[in-house]
Amino acid sequence: MSFSALGLSQALVNAVHAAGYTEPTPVQQQAIPAALQDKDLMVAAQTGTGKTASFALPILQKLYAQPDTQRVPTKSKQVRVLVLTPTRELAAQVHESFNLYARELPLTSACIYGGVGAAQQIRILSKGVDVLVACPGRLLDLIGQKAVDLAEVDTLVLDEADRMLDMGFIHDVKKILKLLPQQRQNLLYSATFSNDIIALTNRLLHNPLRIEV
Ligand code: AMP
Repeated sequence: MSFSALGLSQALVNAVHAAGYTEPTPVQQQAIPAALQDKDLMVAAQTGTGKTASFALPILQKLYAQPDTQRVPTKSKQVRVLVLTPTRELAAQVHESFNLYARELPLTSACIYGGVGAAQQIRILSKGVDVLVACPGRLLDLIGQKAVDLAEVDTLVLDEADRMLDMGFIHDVKKILKLLPQQRQNLLYSATFSNDIIALTNRLLHNPLRIEV
């Protein structure tokens, strides 16, 4: 199985090869084709399985590398893809991965989390970004300051959803979900599927493909 067989364009195949990946991991083999087809996913995968690339690659492909894309090229300053993570470390890692895979693509992105000053994050957002990787608390903060507009988000990723619930972010996440358009693709990743996660997936996901690795 090769990355191009999954339907990824040359720009992304070049980037993963440059990163030293020779073939897709099991979660990538299952998630990438389904995500490219706009399906909702619920994915049970631990860190280390290659889960980040399994959502970042199809998202980048759909944003920038789809020849017959139905997506309008970005004109507005509105966020198109929102990735929520429980910790700043994970947010930074995910953001770094997007940039690694987009080396041949015109990605605009930002990474926002608390514990550091907001001024620089606000400045980057004001220029407009397609992909926003964020921790829920700081995101709500910046929404309150009208520094972020989520009205055009068409893809939502909840990464490490179980940790997000364990860390008490569920109320923040629910507030954020209310600000997103109804019509969107949802990709939920979690190491475990507890009853709370199942309840969240039932509310959030439409006819999801369930992937376990
Ligand atoms: P993750 O599960 O997303 O935290 O990724 C774990 C590590 O695996 C990261 O360092 C990735 O760079 C690496 N990785 C992701 N996909 C592949 C692949 N197909 N082949 C080799 N390494 C990979």
